[in-house]
Amino acid sequence: MLIYLGKKRQERAMGYVVDFCPICRELSEFKLSKINDPNLSYGIPLATGATVGYLRECVVCQTFMHADPIRYTAFANRSGTASIKTLAEATFPRAYKYHGKRLQLEKLIRQSPHTIEEKLRVELVAEIFETLAPLVERRMAHFYLDTRMLMVAVFGLLAVFVLPLYLVSLIPGLEESQSIVAMFMALVFGVILGWQWKTSPRRYMRDMIYPNFAKALSVLEPSEEELSIAIGIAKRNGKHIANLVRKDELMRLFH
Ligand SMILES: [Zn+2]
Repeated sequence: MLIYLGKKRQERAMGYVVDFCPICRELSEFKLSKINDPNLSYGIPLATGATVGYLRECVVCQTFMHADPIRYTAFANRSGTASIKTLAEATFPRAYKYHGKRLQLEKLIRQSPHTIEEKLRVELVAEIFETLAPLVERRMAHFYLDTRMLMVAVFGLLAVFVLPLYLVSLIPGLEESQSIVAMFMALVFGVILGWQWKTSPRRYMRDMIYPNFAKALSVLEPSEEELSIAIGIAKRNGKHIANLVRKDELMRLFH
């Protein structure tokens, strides 16, 4: 669980459409949104000079990416009410043709991922970092409280306000030191909360981003070298994902 604190992204939902998701590696259902602040696209390029832009968020993996609304003939009002094929016919009838080459490549990836030429394999690995990067950018741009931080905060408040009273009732002569005990508890829990805050981006990676890495890349079985190149590209592009990901942890996800 993540509790978000701060200004929400200014966006307006337009409806549901079908398009290709690089994380799910197939045609998927997307929620299409219009955003009115290019700074809030979290690194996803909008049209040059545009003040508004469009994002689509996969309803399966929750990854959001650039959207081109012109390609859709209509938007469905509700999610999950039709099969992908039916939804494609209603919203993006050319989807199978438009993404034909990519769907063919996905078939080859599933059948024999190691027969794909090395340059393309590296591009496919790098694509996943690029696709997941905006999720991490959004996480790093705002202040969130995760479950661990909330638990520490609740225990901290109890320790500062309730525990000293309990100790005073238990140990005679402690009344004078009650405020010192409360201050000590506040200090201890302040340090624990600070540590939890510092480590929360890595927890976010493990809980929210790694499952998507596993979903997208297990089938490709990337090597350490391919991952290193992809991380290097993300680093050069200044993406937080490059600094928060650990290559050895990823390797354990895939092999
Ligand atoms: Zn997806």
